[in-house]
Amino acid sequence: MYTIIFMGPPGSGKGTQAKIICELYHIPQISTGEILRNAMSNQTDLGKKAKEYVESGKLVPDDIVIGIVKERIKEKDCEKGFLLDGFPRTVKQAEELDKILNELKKRIDIVINLDVPEEELIQRLLKRAKLEGRSDDTEPVIRNRMKTYFDQTYPLIEFYNQKNLLKNINGIGTIEEISERIKEAIKNIDK
Ligand code: AMP
Repeated sequence: MYTIIFMGPPGSGKGTQAKIICELYHIPQISTGEILRNAMSNQTDLGKKAKEYVESGKLVPDDIVIGIVKERIKEKDCEKGFLLDGFPRTVKQAEELDKILNELKKRIDIVINLDVPEEELIQRLLKRAKLEGRSDDTEPVIRNRMKTYFDQTYPLIEFYNQKNLLKNINGIGTIEEISERIKEAIKNIDK
């Protein structure tokens, strides 16, 4: 069983691929974006706090998302592995994750980074905006999310590269082609 991190800019297909990999390896998919969207639609305290950030394409403050992940990975279904989809997104989150995993005597097996050129990402997101109607998929918010990604999340690629955990995956192709590439990378983790 594996502990996997999925990284990639908005529109890279991260959520779609994460779902496929979780079904295949029978591990829970922990998507901070989905947890926040659910909280927003249920109008919980968390949802109310997150709304203005999510809807403007900014990151929700570190302490809020770190708290969510800390609680979630202590649950029983995470004992044998899990996949983090959309977390960590800042160096601070990554450092806190290391601390949490140390306490739990767990470690990250692989960080998958889905690589897609920026022009392609914007086109994909605008198309998704029409299909799904997510409240953070309007053009100005999309551009803001992209900027947030390059400013705050992109540095994590180097963070995990230095730890020898990073695997860059070409995110252009059919859903099946891309998931084959990811499976191959996971198969090659030396346990
Ligand atoms: P996603 O579905 O992963 O694209 O996330 C949607 C939105 O949720 C992001 O644009 C952020 O506003 C918020 N969000 C999700 N994950 C995080 C995180 N790890 N840190 C801060 N904000 C997050």
